[in-house]
Amino acid sequence: MNHTARVGCWSAVRLVFLLALPMVCQAQKLAITFDDLPLNGTLPGVTRVDITKGLLAVLKKHHAPPAYGFINAKKLEGSPDGAEALRLWAAAQPVGNHTYSHLDLHQNTPEAFERDLEQNEPALELLSPAGDWHWLRYPYLREGETIEKRHAVRDYLKAHGYKIAQVTVDWEDYMWNGAYARCVAKNDTKSIAWLRSSYLRTASEFIDLDRELAKTVYGHDINHVLLLHLGAFSSTIIPDTLDLLKKKGFKLVTLEEAESDPAYESDPDIGSQEGGTLLDLLMEAKKLKWPVFAEKPYEQVRSICQ
Ligand SMILES: [Zn+2]
Repeated sequence: MNHTARVGCWSAVRLVFLLALPMVCQAQKLAITFDDLPLNGTLPGVTRVDITKGLLAVLKKHHAPPAYGFINAKKLEGSPDGAEALRLWAAAQPVGNHTYSHLDLHQNTPEAFERDLEQNEPALELLSPAGDWHWLRYPYLREGETIEKRHAVRDYLKAHGYKIAQVTVDWEDYMWNGAYARCVAKNDTKSIAWLRSSYLRTASEFIDLDRELAKTVYGHDINHVLLLHLGAFSSTIIPDTLDLLKKKGFKLVTLEEAESDPAYESDPDIGSQEGGTLLDLLMEAKKLKWPVFAEKPYEQVRSICQ
């Protein structure tokens, strides 16, 4: 809950208290989701199974509701470790489709994209025969650089019973996975401490920015969906990330509950060269003015521990 909302809420509580009527302040809802299973980035001397077990333990400890993991089954080829990691994930959490080979729709035809999506389905069916895995998370958040491609894939998804796993909060957390693996290999504790602080600072700034974008687009805040990636850094930083979300006033919910907000019926309906979150695309479609925001520390994260 942001400052304005909190002030509004407490003012309302005071008023209602005076009127001696019951009142409940609603926490803002957010679903956490993980992409690129069984692994995003590189391994710092641990296995995919270790990373998955670590993250599952954190989610359990924090009593987090079911969190979707979006898989690329191509990563299982020749990787028993990856297969076991996914099996563990699917036994505890839902899975969704992120295409077989993490295919970039902007570099491929809609037909190639649809084939790649279908190629991922046997693994999803095997992992989660009773689960609702008909959720697509577009790789790179690219839904088509032309309106024709966007429509072609959307039509396919609708005809095949797929829902789109939208994203409204994103701070490109994946950047820290590779950097963390490098710093662990060098046993560089000072750099690892910087990775933690820069990650949490960036997360905080982009949570605030994405809430502001929601208000710019809709005129009010909405249920949010957070994009995270399952990588080496995840299980070590997620406890702090979950604390941060709590401090910001979020209540964790499932993806289904988050997307039950009517805001998710909005369709930007544009071809977009860059792609992006639902809010990015709506800002682009409506030609709205972006608020000022701090850039992410791309260069420092890329160069650290090299
Ligand atoms: Zn991805």
